[in-house]
Amino acid sequence: MPMNKNIYLTSLYFAFAFETTTAIAHQNDQAITFPDQIPQAQGDYVAASKVETLKPGQKVDNLFDLQFDDKQATIQKLGNNTYWIGVNYYNTTVIVDDNAGVMLIDPLGSERVDTVLKAIKQITDKPITAMVYSHYHLDHVGGAKQVSDYVEQHQTEPLRIYSSAAVYEKILRHSKKDDNNQIKAKVPLPTNVIKLDRAKTIKFGQQKIRMIVPKGAGHTPDNTLIWVKNDKVVHFADMINPDQLPFYNFAGAEDFHGYEEDLKWLLKKGIKGQWQYVNGGHGNIGSIDDVKSLLGYLDDLRREVNKQLEIAPYEPKLSDRNHFIWVKRWQDTIAAGVKEALEPKYGNMYGFDSGAVETHAIMVLFDIVDH
Ligand SMILES: [Zn+2]
Repeated sequence: MPMNKNIYLTSLYFAFAFETTTAIAHQNDQAITFPDQIPQAQGDYVAASKVETLKPGQKVDNLFDLQFDDKQATIQKLGNNTYWIGVNYYNTTVIVDDNAGVMLIDPLGSERVDTVLKAIKQITDKPITAMVYSHYHLDHVGGAKQVSDYVEQHQTEPLRIYSSAAVYEKILRHSKKDDNNQIKAKVPLPTNVIKLDRAKTIKFGQQKIRMIVPKGAGHTPDNTLIWVKNDKVVHFADMINPDQLPFYNFAGAEDFHGYEEDLKWLLKKGIKGQWQYVNGGHGNIGSIDDVKSLLGYLDDLRREVNKQLEIAPYEPKLSDRNHFIWVKRWQDTIAAGVKEALEPKYGNMYGFDSGAVETHAIMVLFDIVDH
């Protein structure tokens, strides 16, 4: 891609300009190790800090390098009591209350949880007394057993585990029973199961933690939005990767229409001033502008898919002794056209050449032709 070539040339330019500095080795490393890396987007970037609160709209600087070391967590304070912790572009939310201790929202997967636990130690020596599962996907909660083991070994205070009834049921559905008919779940079962037919609040010391299931069930039907009211932080896993294009298939959005609905609802709440920071479980720390940009991306996708449909209309045909093989060829043609059309606007974003855009175009395509 011409874009990547430009970046490589930029790196070379820096190499010549500052040959003797270590920054250069670093620039060259990036050019060689991560040929698809692109410069971060324009914006207000500041060095990560566990002491200084991030201003709304600001982002953590140089996240790309920080996140490609799985032994190192990036910690950023949000508001007075809330912390964003990222490891390998997987993010958790931690709340520290003087009296109640530490609440960990999504411990992350088993490969990353030890780094998360070390990061919490860097923030506070208060005990971990609460853990919340946002939804039952193991990349966000698979490390929960390690957290409960850690708590048992290192503290006298017990650990409460909160989840919605929907998360609890999903954990059970994916569990086995042993010979004694005991449930063998992959994560510790929640101790505090909350029926979220309407939003409910958990009081955690001085903190009010609001658990909400937005109507669209955009990522999964069990996905819970967790709103840290005092600090105006929302944890809404797998809905947005601020600074980056969405993951493949919009992170497996089970209902694309609902996904967009939930994003619009999230934006509305932000505009009302209810939240200022969003932790999407991935990417950088987000703001209202990031939700707007993502909705704009969806509009752009839809417009370009519709244009492609005029060039390559929906025309089922029998071929190759098969009645559906045409679909694959058709959707790939449309996706390639959409990607080409979006390159001028989105080509410099993280993930543009990963194949993700094509999966997004295909999801939008089927949302259009199926409904
Ligand atoms: Zn998920």
